[in-house]
Amino acid sequence: MRRLRNVKIVATLGPASNDYEMIRALFEAGADVFRLNMSHGDHSEIRVRHQIIRQIEKDLERPIGILADLQGPKLRVGVFANGEEELEVGQSFRLDLNDADGDKSRVQLPHKEIFEALEAGASLLVNDGKIRMKVIECGDDFANCEVTVGGTISNRKGVNVPDVVLPVAALSEKDRKDLEFVCQLGVDWLALSFVQRAQDVEEARHLADGRAAILSKIEKPAAVKSFDEILAASDGIMVARGDLGVELPIQNVPPIQKRLIRRCRAVAKPVIVATQMLESMIDSPMPTRAEVSDVATAIYEGTDAIMLSAESAAGSFPIEAVTTMNNVAIEVENDPNYLDIIAAQRGGKRESVADGIVSAAREIAETTDIKAICCFSQSGTTALLVARERPHVPIIALTPLMGTARRLCLSWGAHCVMSGAVERFKMAVVNAARAARKEGFATEADQIVVIAGVPFNQPGTTNILRIAPCEERLIFSSGPE
Ligand code: PGA
Ligand code: MN
Repeated sequence: MRRLRNVKIVATLGPASNDYEMIRALFEAGADVFRLNMSHGDHSEIRVRHQIIRQIEKDLERPIGILADLQGPKLRVGVFANGEEELEVGQSFRLDLNDADGDKSRVQLPHKEIFEALEAGASLLVNDGKIRMKVIECGDDFANCEVTVGGTISNRKGVNVPDVVLPVAALSEKDRKDLEFVCQLGVDWLALSFVQRAQDVEEARHLADGRAAILSKIEKPAAVKSFDEILAASDGIMVARGDLGVELPIQNVPPIQKRLIRRCRAVAKPVIVATQMLESMIDSPMPTRAEVSDVATAIYEGTDAIMLSAESAAGSFPIEAVTTMNNVAIEVENDPNYLDIIAAQRGGKRESVADGIVSAAREIAETTDIKAICCFSQSGTTALLVARERPHVPIIALTPLMGTARRLCLSWGAHCVMSGAVERFKMAVVNAARAARKEGFATEADQIVVIAGVPFNQPGTTNILRIAPCEERLIFSSGPE
């Protein structure tokens, strides 16, 4: 079962995509990675979804990536006596630590550390930025604000404080419990929300202890500022446009998206573009033109993956949403302009033998009639380097490690295949040719490029490249051992 596109699709699971049939249909329609959102759903629901995905993986014999998204330090107001209140422009409104029910003049903000970090003049955004207020005066346990954009405020709405680097731990008590829970279940990626500094990523990596790769969600101005350090500390990145568009002026999001995608590609780490890609498909079977264009733009920019949130988790048309992404991707990737744009952005430092080999593999594959670039990868690093080349021919990543195959589900173009441990290069070529034929990439009459590190089982040794026939007799009768 091969995809006819290189960009990957991440689909968030939720009440609209809870059972075996629906999740399998989403996978068959094109979802490569499923996101389990720890902000919604309790552990027993998450456990069931996880089991279903692993069952589908077994039934279809294709690796599937699972990304668990930790809620992070999301700030929320307390509750109101009336459930909600209407705030008007110009009125004053107080946030404090008092747990009494709120009214039109005040409400609880149960985060002590925030008051300590707030300063007069800072903006507070409530309910995805729909309501805005400015801090006029504040102390250790209160902030008196002036409402600058009014609206309805209701129980437990989220609060963003864009101007301040918050002195809060990257992982709340809930996040730590969730992290341990999903790591024990066995997930491939952990996404960290509201990352502010590289140290936040290191903390999560320490707790995950090698059980999952770490993906940082860029959704705070502080994270945009420290992006290079955060990228260096992470295995992957999400352009989390939802909160990013609240914390920064919304028109800043597209240039940031472009810049982040380029930087991630330069260092061969996967990047996801997320949020509101097909928002109208929550209620409609047809997307808007603008949404289709947004999905296309992210693909033209060379992103590794595009993501669905509520569209697949809580909408009425999850399968249609995945199908739309799949169709847009196929169309964009067949556009000669796409190939030019992607080639023009090929760059980044090339300093190792592996860099040279993957680049040569692409050159050879694109110059002659080669059906696939097959790479052997333990940790996945070689496959990531091949993906960074964004070659015009398919990438088959062979690995003996299921965890590597699953993690690579997020990376541009990587079609992952499990292979037994190989000791001789010739057997590696035989395995690669078999995989290429079995998965429908090549026939016996075709040729492939195979790259590997010999001796095997030593990470970081990519040092051999062979242009190989797909017919087994020919493999055995020619080429290096
Ligand atoms: P969320 O993250 O859906 O968990 O808020 C993505 C975003 O903010 O864009
Ligand atoms: Mn977010």
